[in-house]
Amino acid sequence: MTNKFKYFIANWKMYGDVNSIKSINRVLKFVNLNKKKKFKIIYCPPYTLLHPFSKILKNTKVDLGAQNCHTELEYGAFTGGINSKMIKNLGAKYIIIGHSENRAAGDTDSAINKKIYSALKSNLSVIFCIGETLSQKRKKLTNTILKSQIINGLRSLKTNKKIILAYEPVWSIGSGIIPKNSELLKNILFIKKILKKISMLKNTKILYGGSVNPKNIKVLNNIDELDGYLIGGASQNSKKLIDIVKKTFN
Ligand code: PEP
Repeated sequence: MTNKFKYFIANWKMYGDVNSIKSINRVLKFVNLNKKKKFKIIYCPPYTLLHPFSKILKNTKVDLGAQNCHTELEYGAFTGGINSKMIKNLGAKYIIIGHSENRAAGDTDSAINKKIYSALKSNLSVIFCIGETLSQKRKKLTNTILKSQIINGLRSLKTNKKIILAYEPVWSIGSGIIPKNSELLKNILFIKKILKKISMLKNTKILYGGSVNPKNIKVLNNIDELDGYLIGGASQNSKKLIDIVKKTFN
């Protein structure tokens, strides 16, 4: 149980079509009935569903986010590209940048830095993902990786007011395995130390992501340092998402 304000980011990844949108009605109803509780749900569907989602979420307490954007802030000849302005124009307020699935597909720290810069220019809040792979963890490189992802990703930014950092150990995403609380807390404290060093700790919210589900949420909730969760698989099921929120507050 917590008294803290919590974020629940629903990352639908490359799932969902126009028919799956109906499933969120249950979540909207739940949010309506729990207006006094201190939480924010943010749906991040694939690009193709941003417009229908933005229509459904209009005038609700649930916000909209995208899962990525092009590095270019301006319009241009980038076939297949979608920039942060276009995302903002559709009514999104948030954007996930640096997700490990996109890092694995070629997103470098420098590209991530450009995307964050562009998103902030478009007045979007950024959910900035960092995390070590299993092999990096085994080689005891976790701190080195987290430090370089933070410093390079946030390089030259003038403000962190709209930055939410999501710590997502890559080995935990989609695997059903979560870190032990002691390990998670150690890494969160390390992240805070680096953010402090670059004067970006104040105002930066810190989330955890990786196999969050209704069964493990109570254990994760014991870490008071967390400001919420980035939820992939479980967020596509409205009942599970509601359960995760409920178990955080009851
Ligand atoms: C994610 O997509 O960032 C994620 C954490 O996925 P999952 O919850 O399915 O592990």
